[in-house]
Amino acid sequence: MGKVYLIGAGPGDPELLTIKAYRLLQNADVVLYDALVNPQILDIVPPSAERIFVGKRAGNHSRSQEEINALIYKYSLLYPTVVRLKGGDPFLFGRGGEELLYLTQRGIEVEIIPGVSSVFGAAASSFVPLTCRGYSSSVTITTGHPLEKMDWENLARSETLVVLMGVKYRREIAKRLIEFGKSPSEGVVFVENATNEGEKITFSTLGEVANNPPDIGTPALFIVGPTVEIGLQVYRSMLVEKSP
Ligand code: SAH
Repeated sequence: MGKVYLIGAGPGDPELLTIKAYRLLQNADVVLYDALVNPQILDIVPPSAERIFVGKRAGNHSRSQEEINALIYKYSLLYPTVVRLKGGDPFLFGRGGEELLYLTQRGIEVEIIPGVSSVFGAAASSFVPLTCRGYSSSVTITTGHPLEKMDWENLARSETLVVLMGVKYRREIAKRLIEFGKSPSEGVVFVENATNEGEKITFSTLGEVANNPPDIGTPALFIVGPTVEIGLQVYRSMLVEKSP
């Protein structure tokens, strides 16, 4: 019986892998990976290892979580080192908890290797700190759907708010945050493909997103809050420095 390593692949840039993730990938017998994993990271896996795509990407035929659980379990009976590779961190909207429970309930040993979440990748790329003395001293990380299940009162009270899986509903989210008390002038930054090729950073405000939302591709997340101002200031000073 093998051991399953639930590994966070980080937000995209392969250099943001942990050393432990790197070592385990080099020793993997099989890797079951998600859509958000940078394909370059799979180059670390030995050619002899099996690579199995189990991603759920909108439009494609997708496997249910139950099927994925069963597949990992099947491979854990076949190979000593099974790597389950997920984008960002496995315990942040990564279904890592469900896979962990499923496998341990069947007597499979599991180890979790944390990864750099896209939340941290996006904050770093946009120069928007998640907390900063004098600006914000707490962070709320939320999924952006389903809208009717979100606790708007609480979300509107948060200092820094990070929204994953919410780009599609950005307009509605901004409207509700304003309705529940956030100022339309509150800063917003969208980060697409954080730390990856095609990375794009777009600064805006809640009012603008509610009225005339900028075009944003996926994957992307957005950060709302007072520290967005810091990122803006940094970009402005970089522009000033670069001008003749
Ligand atoms: N476990 C992952 C999150 C999975 S949920 C993590 O820790 O990052 C999927 C959502 O994460 C996407 O809808 C998007 O909002 C965000 N996301 C993942 N990778 C991203 C990236 N490289 N850039 C921006 N957002 C990303």
